[in-house]
Amino acid sequence: MVAEAEFDLAVIGGGINGCGIARDAAGRGASVYLCEMNDLAGGTSSWSTKLIHGGLRYLEYFEFRLVREALIEREVLWRLAPHLVQPLRFVLPYHRGLRPAWLLRLGLFLYDHLGARKLLPATRVVDLAHSELGAPLKTNMFRRGFEYSDCRVDDSRLVIANAQDAAARGAVIEPRTKAVAAHVEQGLWTLTVEDTVTDTKRTIRARALVNAGGPWVQHVLDTTVGHAGRARVRLVQGSHIVVRRIYRHDRAYIFQNTDGRIVFAIPYEGDFTLIGTTDRDFHGDPATVSATDEEVHYLCGAASEYFKQPITAKDVIWKYAGVRPLYNDGASEAQAATRDYVLELEKDEECPPLLSVFGGKITTYRRLAEEALQKLAPHVAALRSGSPWTATASLPGGDFPVDGLAELQHRLQARYAFLGADLARRLVHTYGRFADRVLGKATALSDLGPQFGGGLSAAEVDYLRAHEWARSADDILWRRTKLGLVVDEAGRRALDAYLGQQTQADLARQPG
Ligand code: FAD
Repeated sequence: MVAEAEFDLAVIGGGINGCGIARDAAGRGASVYLCEMNDLAGGTSSWSTKLIHGGLRYLEYFEFRLVREALIEREVLWRLAPHLVQPLRFVLPYHRGLRPAWLLRLGLFLYDHLGARKLLPATRVVDLAHSELGAPLKTNMFRRGFEYSDCRVDDSRLVIANAQDAAARGAVIEPRTKAVAAHVEQGLWTLTVEDTVTDTKRTIRARALVNAGGPWVQHVLDTTVGHAGRARVRLVQGSHIVVRRIYRHDRAYIFQNTDGRIVFAIPYEGDFTLIGTTDRDFHGDPATVSATDEEVHYLCGAASEYFKQPITAKDVIWKYAGVRPLYNDGASEAQAATRDYVLELEKDEECPPLLSVFGGKITTYRRLAEEALQKLAPHVAALRSGSPWTATASLPGGDFPVDGLAELQHRLQARYAFLGADLARRLVHTYGRFADRVLGKATALSDLGPQFGGGLSAAEVDYLRAHEWARSADDILWRRTKLGLVVDEAGRRALDAYLGQQTQADLARQPG
């Protein structure tokens, strides 16, 4: 085993929090190493409801600090990555017998005013009986409602964008690399990491260690580091179902359930509706989580309570589950456990800093990263002089105005006349200003090489391998894109074969 380079910061975990911290630290001039045992965003960060939101529901739990911070982040993140984050209007039907209208009004008033809203439109009352917004809902049951603003996000691509920017600022990002042991030697952390493809191990030395293991945060503390830590994680499973698009308009719905929970129905990837989520305590290995029949039944029931067209398990095209690594605040019910984050810093005479991340939201990852670095700065010289910078620095591909997507698509189609509108739209939403890097010098569709379905070409696959650490069909079909929803079995097999050839070619090029 050869001792490797020395870094200011080593980060365990390539989810949104690990990548956000790595990016921020690298931008402040620190040398950063990040390892992720699977693919980037392979954990909770690709299994979310995909909202950048204040969390209307959290007001009921008096989480004003969290809601305010999250509300402010909506417009910040929209500006940083307008291709990945976009405003979305939510329709909240008034349901007689559930929360009273005055309470909904009060909640939405607070929601509109807590968070420095400048671009997002305000709440309005909607007449569901006489508008297209009421058309998909059960006739005569939902006559009034409210429409308010939040944002949607491509969660896994937001992770990749942070990792890309961290790497552009000098961070070493290693997916498929597991942190297997950490100990202190001569005042530095020595981290043993294992390449999960070749099974080879090596060591990294770092002045500070960040444990951003998400649902594995406690496991990393207990087994990798051998520190029990004080804070505790509460694992809460949440599942989603995807069905064919239920309605034509572009708004999402937020439905109240009789059990006090809420469920979203969100327009998704053009032709689909995403419905979720559930909240149930989870025990076991987070890698094994999957949406249960009971959860599917619950979600179908919740949606069918509102939609005219009943939703059944047969309508489900795709389902997924994730595990929230929540801070355990002792709440009795999973849905009541705080969504706020807690950063635990351990540091003493003999032990260099170890910072563990508990809880949090995708929405607040950037603020979480700032707070993490503020805690580490007194102990890491390279971070001492740096100040927060990420609130105004675009993420890769996101350097264009918040209302500039249509113009970007127009310019892409003008430059690549062979592009159909659907493909151009997808490329712009996926890569923003980097879409032309995917297409390169192509002057005809055939220049992009073999096609795998859904507009995915060999040129795009090559780009994802070269610039976004993608290796497997799942990396490409479910995390870099959501083309898994449309690429058929034959396309997937062809993609597998192509990726196999490219891996062989890479190996052949390696010296020795
Ligand atoms: P993760 O994304 O899980 O990343 C941790 C990473 O660490 C994993 O990729 C894992 O492989 C890696 N790792 C662990 N151990 C090791 C090791 N030993 N070596 C190397 N790597 C390791 N938030 C929102 O803002 N909006 C939403 O709409 C929303 N919806 C949600 C819906 C559901 C059902 C769930 C479950 C969560 C939702 N969240 C939402 C919350 C949000 O998804 C999480 O807070 C966030 O993704 C957590 O990110 P993370 O980086 O801490 O964890």
